[in-house]
Amino acid sequence: MSEPSFRRDRISKPIFAWAQKVLPTLSDTEREAIEAGDVWWDADLFSGKPDWAKLLAVPRASLSAEEQAFLDGPCNELCGLLDEWHITWTLRDLPPEVWDCLKRHKFFAMIIPKEYGGLGFSAYAHSEVIRKLSTRSITGAVTAMVPNSLGPGELLLQFGTREQQNDWLPRLAAGKEIPCFGLTSPEAGSDAASMTDTGVVCRGTWQGRETIGIKLNWHKRYITLCPVATVIGLAFKLHDPDHLLGDRDDIGITVALVPTNLPGVEIGRRHLPALLVFQNGPTWGRDVFIPLDHVIGGVAQVGKGWKMLMSALAAGRGISLPSLSAAGAVFAAHTTGAYSAIREQFHVPIGRFQAIQERLGRMAATAYLIDAARRLTCAGIDHGHKPAVITAIMKEQATERLRVVTNDAMDVHGGKGVQEGPLNYLGTLYRSIPIGITVEGANIVTRSLIQFGQGAIRSHPYLLKEMAALEDPDRERGLEEFDHVFWQHVRHSLANAWRAWLHAWTGAIFASAPDAGRTRRFYRMLSRYSSAFAFAVDVALLTLGGGLKRQEMISARFGDVLSELYLLSAVLKRWQDEGRQRPDLPLVEWSMRKGFATIEERLDQIINNFSNRPMAWLMRFMLLPLGPRERGPSDRVTQACAKILLEPSATRDRLTVDLFHGTGDDGLARLERAYAAVIAVAPIRERMHKARVRDVDTAFRQGLINEAEAQQLSAAATAVAAAIAVDDFAPEELSPRQAEDIAPLQWQSKPQARSAVGQGGGGA
Ligand SMILES: Cc1cc2nc3c(=O)[nH]c(=O)nc-3n(C[C@H](O)[C@H](O)[C@H](O)COP(=O)(O)OP(=O)(O)OC[C@H]3O[C@@H](n4cnc5c(N)ncnc54)[C@H](O)[C@@H]3O)c2cc1C
Repeated sequence: MSEPSFRRDRISKPIFAWAQKVLPTLSDTEREAIEAGDVWWDADLFSGKPDWAKLLAVPRASLSAEEQAFLDGPCNELCGLLDEWHITWTLRDLPPEVWDCLKRHKFFAMIIPKEYGGLGFSAYAHSEVIRKLSTRSITGAVTAMVPNSLGPGELLLQFGTREQQNDWLPRLAAGKEIPCFGLTSPEAGSDAASMTDTGVVCRGTWQGRETIGIKLNWHKRYITLCPVATVIGLAFKLHDPDHLLGDRDDIGITVALVPTNLPGVEIGRRHLPALLVFQNGPTWGRDVFIPLDHVIGGVAQVGKGWKMLMSALAAGRGISLPSLSAAGAVFAAHTTGAYSAIREQFHVPIGRFQAIQERLGRMAATAYLIDAARRLTCAGIDHGHKPAVITAIMKEQATERLRVVTNDAMDVHGGKGVQEGPLNYLGTLYRSIPIGITVEGANIVTRSLIQFGQGAIRSHPYLLKEMAALEDPDRERGLEEFDHVFWQHVRHSLANAWRAWLHAWTGAIFASAPDAGRTRRFYRMLSRYSSAFAFAVDVALLTLGGGLKRQEMISARFGDVLSELYLLSAVLKRWQDEGRQRPDLPLVEWSMRKGFATIEERLDQIINNFSNRPMAWLMRFMLLPLGPRERGPSDRVTQACAKILLEPSATRDRLTVDLFHGTGDDGLARLERAYAAVIAVAPIRERMHKARVRDVDTAFRQGLINEAEAQQLSAAATAVAAAIAVDDFAPEELSPRQAEDIAPLQWQSKPQARSAVGQGGGGA
């Protein structure tokens, strides 16, 4: 028994009892998700007092000479082989030479260490490869991305036994095995843990000898690479009715490697996700027997599948889709800027219209921001972090912002963006958007449940410790610990309350900021919002407790504020890392102003919708006494950002660095040629414009331009005509006969596996 303490026994004890009632109770799957990965810059943002020196000290993500050589060599070679139109509409698959290139150059083995024959790339190099491929072919990029994301490779590396790693990883690295990852089933999408796919521990025969193993039955769908996979990383619920492994009947979610050539495994049928043709399809298994050593990690890992999945997702989610989104945003910004410079209506380039500049400005700044956040996240992962909350932010925010940018690109391109054909360079990107939004945690659930839901517990400086104390079976020890942590929490809340109030009422002039030149004021504002966020979080936890979990609209808004704080930190870090380039400042300013407006709007919405009104008034007084004051970027800043996309400059080059450029006569190459030609003739056209002469012949006759200039103008006009052209097709090319040819593929539906299993006919 510890010494009597007035604070602990008289004050903390009743609070301890009350908190036990109100604090969120966690299901096993929630707990495992929260325990996955670690915390990083998110913890600083939650603290209310971010340590900017720590952020600025994070080494800038960079490539080794070998990684750069891979991007310049094999990655460019692969890009050159990818023809999205041909792949999508003729082949409906990647051509054999692309599959060969992917395997030969080990694109599927970027995360596999060299000792197993993989490339052993850093997170940043992996991200750069996906980024470059994405600017050429989404189908190619997704195919390369998946084996390097959540799946057998990552799971074996983290949890496999030595024997499993030695057995599987060299074959995966050499492309002899094509992996896929089977989690999602018809009943269990976002709520993946509710899957009804089963494994039963039993005796069976494996390679001629009797052994203890698992009999599997499953129906999975939406599985990328599954139709061509040689091995499935399969998630299922394991049961042990005969207690061959221990005394538990239900062991829990388990992940095993299932070779697809085993009897009872069915793969091959394909989905057509948003008309993209990367390999994706369902799989069924009926009474498929595997030995126990096919469980990833062996018997030691049975029942730990959910934890394994969450842990693998904690880093991977921050690389694949954010890289694709960063690439898509830069590609959309680059092409739309160029198109706005060459496309004329009402006798002027459309890029001169303010309404177009409004879109271009948003596109430029958003592309800058997503890529800034991608770089920072990769730097964090390469530094050894697995920041689960940050990667959830990245996945959701990058794909959502790509949607905004791509919609802008489509709107500005008008019919040119809509008309499909080999010359259309936007169509696949546009169609791919809902895929990124849906996979690796659908965005609505990620935004409303995961970012803040997990962040509030995981990244908060005290909450997890308090929860551990509250759940301690030794009540006295729990109270002792709670008493210690709770009062630290109180001091932390009071300090944040003071900071939030002071900064709100003084325009953040006293807020902490590093010596960061012209961006110093932005650091101050972020410090202010971090304190406001931290204070509002504590108020919400205090008043709503476990109920906050069900208040998804409130939780989502907190998630938005946290996301903005992270993304804006990344923007400031990028500006610093790139040597404080003054011409890039409009991109920084646009991002900041827009982000600040979003933060204030979300805090305002939280306050307005907060059910405990006295607490809402307190928050209003402390955080936003005059309501939201930030109005977003000015028109001047938006126009400065638009200009970056319209005119050649070092900033434009920095923004669009390492895109794969068009080749031959493809749509992108035509656009880039036309842009270069139009920029080259701009001074001549300016001269004609001043003389109020539009026609080249007249200008020549009047001696306003010489013959060479006339030819240059005419070449530019030809290049523009080629770039704005769209495809048209002969009637027979789009005839109903071809549609009939593919009709059986579309309409021949598969019997549902679950009922088929019941009828003894699964997988038929
Ligand atoms: C092209 C493609 C490739 C894929 N590849 C793979 C793969 O390789 N392996 C694999 O295992 N899976 C894969 N998936 C599956 C993907 O992970 C799921 O689609 C995703 O988890 C969502 O499940 P669902 O589509 O069934 O949507 P549902 O779970 O039915 O969700 C419908 C909507 O409800 C929302 N929602 C659900 N629960 C909540 C909640 N509590 N609060 C608020 N909103 C909620 C979701 O956000 C979503 O908007 C793929 C899917 C697609 C489309």
